[in-house]
Amino acid sequence: MDALYIHIPFCARRCVYCSFYTEALGRGTGRDPRVGVYLEALDLELSRLTDDYAPHTVFMGGGTPNALSADELRRLFALLHHRVDLSQVTEWTVEANPGLLTPERIVAIAEGGVNRVSLGAQSFQPHLLSFLTRDHGPEAVGEAVRRLREAGFENLSLDLMTGLPEQSIEGLDRDIDHLLDLAPDHCSAYCLEVHPGTPLARRVESGQVQEAAPDIQAAHYERLLGRLEAAGLAPYELSNFARPGRECLHNRMYWVGAEFAGVGPGAHSYRDGVRFHNPRNLEAWADALRDGRDPATGHDRIDAEARAREILVMWLRLDEGVPRNAFRERTGFDLDTLGGRPLREQIGQGWIENRPDRIRLAPRARFVSNAVFAELV
Ligand code: SF4
Repeated sequence: MDALYIHIPFCARRCVYCSFYTEALGRGTGRDPRVGVYLEALDLELSRLTDDYAPHTVFMGGGTPNALSADELRRLFALLHHRVDLSQVTEWTVEANPGLLTPERIVAIAEGGVNRVSLGAQSFQPHLLSFLTRDHGPEAVGEAVRRLREAGFENLSLDLMTGLPEQSIEGLDRDIDHLLDLAPDHCSAYCLEVHPGTPLARRVESGQVQEAAPDIQAAHYERLLGRLEAAGLAPYELSNFARPGRECLHNRMYWVGAEFAGVGPGAHSYRDGVRFHNPRNLEAWADALRDGRDPATGHDRIDAEARAREILVMWLRLDEGVPRNAFRERTGFDLDTLGGRPLREQIGQGWIENRPDRIRLAPRARFVSNAVFAELV
């Protein structure tokens, strides 16, 4: 099993909290020379994959893939179909900004072969969208969902943010009401994180913005989890909720430690036991490819035991838990021997459930999962 991630490093403009590698296109309509540079270099990078490379999932993220125009998206899909064997792909996701999801772009995405769209809703309240400097209004999300459903997309995900300054529980409830009204198949929920070097971090440092306290963040998470689960969106992963059969297969590959190839500036890969990444710079990445060089850097061959421990805690994020047999097949390590005394202690304290065929994070440990994981790595 293999997964292909394609990083599309363009957005209409940068959001204050964003730490991803992305360039602001300004008008958000594509037609910028940087997009041409990107598409030409991406073609070169894809041509470096093995001839028989046939991923099972494709995820186009960013950035904002639909910051490209419909014509540019068509070029992107054409070169993907030309360079990669897509016959094995069961899930093909595109992340999209609701405000830029025009009918022309939806047609291009559908014709390209995409079968899952992940929309960055984040909130349905104007003051919170404005705080996040998102470039869409609340109504754009409903409109995008309606257009995508009309175009035949059966697998839609919405992103929602919690733990925002000034976000009350009642406000979160209203956001959840809006989200459920749109009947998504999947929801990814993220607590706002303040990343160093972002405009948001500077505002927090200067005292202009106060982060939500940890107990408020926990209360938001608990409310969200309870309400989404009651509405049929099961918490299959700590931050992800889905109707049965709509779990994200691509991200599941990461959580169970599968290999993946990342293309595009800033993209990460894990192949043949080695982790590496591309430079977070469009020109540096494109120059390397034009010169016939591999743009990847930071190669890190990970010690098998360290990798097994990483996989153990990532896999524990899944509600299904970590099956002993599958873990041994994936890593070569016996789960109980690897976990040793710390694992036995976590089980003894009730943070991890011990079942005959697997271990699983106890539901009450979801709120303190990082502390549990820290004991196991
Ligand atoms: S739309 Fe997403 S990737 Fe683009 S700047 Fe905002 S948070 Fe970052």
